Amino acid sequence: MSASKEPVKAAVATANDGASGEIRYNPAEIEPRWQERWAADPDLYAAESASSGKPKYYVLEMLPYPSGQLHMGHVRNYAIGDALARYMWMQGYNVLHPMGWDAFGLPAENAALKNNVQPREWTLSNIENMKRVFNRMGLSYDWRNEITTCLPDYYRWNQWFFIRMFERGLAYRKKSKVNWCPECATVLANEQVIDGRCWRHEDTLVEQRDLEQWFLRTTEYAQELLDGLDQLPHWPERVRTMQRNWIGRSEGAEVELAVEDASVAPEDEQKLRDSGTAVLPAREDARTTGKKITIFTTRIDTIFGATSIELAPEHPLVKEFSASDSRLAEEVAALLDQQKKSREAGDIGAIEKHGVFAGHYAINPFNGERLPIWVANYVLLDYGTGAIMSVPAHDERDYEFAKKYGLEMRIVILPRGNSEVGEPILPFTEEDSLLINSGEFNTLGCQEAQQKMAAYAQEHGFGKPTVTFRLKDWGISRQRYWGTPIPMLYCEKDGIVPVPDDQLPVLLPENVEITQQGGSPLGKLAEFVNATCPKCGGPARRETDTMDTFVDSSWYFYRYTDPKNSKAPFDSDKIAYWFPIDQYIGGVEHAILHLIYSRFWTKVMRDLGVIKNDEPIARLFTQGMVIKNGAKMSKSKGNVVTPDDMVARFGADAARMYTLFAAPPDRDLDWQEDGVAGVSRFLARAYRFVMKHAGRAKAGEVAATSTTSQALLRKLHQTIRKITEDFAGRWHFNTCIAAIMELLNVLIAAEPAIAAGEVPDAVVTEILRNLVLLLAPFSPHLASELWEQIGEQPSILRAPWPKYDEALAKEDEIEIPIQVNGKLRTVIKVAAEADEQALRDAALAEDKIEVATEGKQIVKVIIVPGKLVNIVVK
Ligand SMILES: [Zn+2]
Ligand SMILES: [Zn+2]
Repeated sequence: MSASKEPVKAAVATANDGASGEIRYNPAEIEPRWQERWAADPDLYAAESASSGKPKYYVLEMLPYPSGQLHMGHVRNYAIGDALARYMWMQGYNVLHPMGWDAFGLPAENAALKNNVQPREWTLSNIENMKRVFNRMGLSYDWRNEITTCLPDYYRWNQWFFIRMFERGLAYRKKSKVNWCPECATVLANEQVIDGRCWRHEDTLVEQRDLEQWFLRTTEYAQELLDGLDQLPHWPERVRTMQRNWIGRSEGAEVELAVEDASVAPEDEQKLRDSGTAVLPAREDARTTGKKITIFTTRIDTIFGATSIELAPEHPLVKEFSASDSRLAEEVAALLDQQKKSREAGDIGAIEKHGVFAGHYAINPFNGERLPIWVANYVLLDYGTGAIMSVPAHDERDYEFAKKYGLEMRIVILPRGNSEVGEPILPFTEEDSLLINSGEFNTLGCQEAQQKMAAYAQEHGFGKPTVTFRLKDWGISRQRYWGTPIPMLYCEKDGIVPVPDDQLPVLLPENVEITQQGGSPLGKLAEFVNATCPKCGGPARRETDTMDTFVDSSWYFYRYTDPKNSKAPFDSDKIAYWFPIDQYIGGVEHAILHLIYSRFWTKVMRDLGVIKNDEPIARLFTQGMVIKNGAKMSKSKGNVVTPDDMVARFGADAARMYTLFAAPPDRDLDWQEDGVAGVSRFLARAYRFVMKHAGRAKAGEVAATSTTSQALLRKLHQTIRKITEDFAGRWHFNTCIAAIMELLNVLIAAEPAIAAGEVPDAVVTEILRNLVLLLAPFSPHLASELWEQIGEQPSILRAPWPKYDEALAKEDEIEIPIQVNGKLRTVIKVAAEADEQALRDAALAEDKIEVATEGKQIVKVIIVPGKLVNIVVK
């Protein structure tokens, strides 16, 4: 941050505002003029067809929600994409750079409620306003590709895809516990619940309710979504790790245990049986009830250490046990209540562990031992099988639970080669260990034992190796108005029937009264609900839920390639040409949901045969946040800086360039208005410099005829090299812009020499031309204006990006540190090409080195050409 600001200060210090008052930079005049010219040329930013012969480049910024509250935090995202798009055009690529609107969603309903304006009207007017701001910022979007997800020509394809998924069993309905935000009066996805609260309402606790919901079977693709991450080397590692954790694959085993028939238990066991704290030994004559418990474990290697079985309170067997045991029923109800409260508080992992003995035993199939069955509040029905084995000696949670209830502990693994140190401190969970007390599996390493024991279970028909995922199916039902209607009908005779394709889209009714209470407003519209069954012609009821808006954004970037298609969601050939997206840019807050759903949708579309690519996005870039006064810029924090305000005061070029200059794009940016003013002064100096020298003749050979012209050309080519390399690599646009500032400083410092005729006109012209080209991706209005002023045409947008000359860029003198015994003694200036001998001679001739080596023997001189000299003495 501080380093990148220095050039601004330098610019300010030498700006000399007013001294050259005859040439004044006036963005308020330049920018609207260019915007008008750009708007008059609808082909300006148009992508060409596949037959253009150019390499394609699809650059995309995440589409915004049209809230109407655009601030500079958003603009940063678009400024990054815009600089890249312009650069790639100049590099000769066929660039697709579209923009659209993620236009469904709750805020439109909130606004409707608050301001008595229809969601559609509110949304479309916000879009108009945001589009105006985008144009005012000079962003290079081809508006002919614009898509608006709340319009029927887009959402009909959501419905079309949904029906295709339904036909393949990938969309289904089930009753499930849902997160319910009383404020939104709707269902939230798990990921919309943050610490037990609604993601939009930080103060509202989320409740649990049972509802029939539509789901998309994302779990069907869990393994592929995981494996695919390895094929995305150009995604930030952080995002890939977040997705891996979200998918949450764990390998383990399922083991089936028979429930013992307690009615024939021998007398002498009765006392032990009642406490439920002890393992009962194996018995030849133990009888079973025919009931089974399937447990999932990632540590089957420790199963000989199991001393109880724990069931989730909602496990079906618990219901059976409770039916004849009112005490148990009561205690289970209490456990359920604790679980519910803990879920609502959003931290089920930290629940205080409670349990109750169920009065029954299950038989460990590995050794015939009978394990007491408990019901525990920390076991969840929706993870694994809702039943676990408890191995207190070798699992943290089991240990805690066993301690509390006095359950037995058995050590069955020991550290390798450490048998003499005695028993390990419990719980001991280290997997790099050896088995003991485990029958025929003794002395095996844990990992080997995991495989062998899972295989053993499979051979003997009581288990198998298995994989579980944390990823859940995607609940897409929303009891809201402002979303895509789910295109399904309910007929008394035929059950669930999809709307036929030729009746799509199911239009979202307009002019609806929004209440946000008592379920979806659509349910109150008889003309919407009452429909005809396409199968039997009888009456049918229409689904009134709408789709999660993440559906809209899961495939929108495909539609950009073919936005007007009314026969299909898109033309597959166009997808084959444009996909995958070469560069996607957006906030890291979308690392999981949007980007996993998009990857899922892509795989489904591939399996439907409408596309061929496996992944939608080749490169992903996540930009940092914009911070002001210590907080993320947002309306709720009251620290918003609007583009309109910035444009009015400093111009669009200065505002957008500042968002690229103030920090590397992947880091957070601390908004400082002084910084915008500094960038604006830099642009003014660049404008004055170019305008002052614009009249020079262009002809003549560009040759370095003087040391001044040589130095200027060197600086120019170094700057071109730096920026070119940066666009291909790190995207540190802050240092790129700083380099242009430095170049300008050097040019201005050389003005007396230029005035004295020491620099040929051809060199000056070359420098002006390239300076303007370098500015083009960052300050397009200014660059367009200056391009014309120096007599160039046509548009700078398609002008070739300058090439740097490695020989010209080379420094002719470089600084070399000289060390004695590794300690820095001095720095010398030598020719950049100086060889080892020359470096050695120059180093030893230095006075300071002579002093430092006086009276000592030079053992060795280590020389790294171009880098350093180290003299070893003793
Ligand atoms: Zn809410
Ligand atoms: Zn029917």
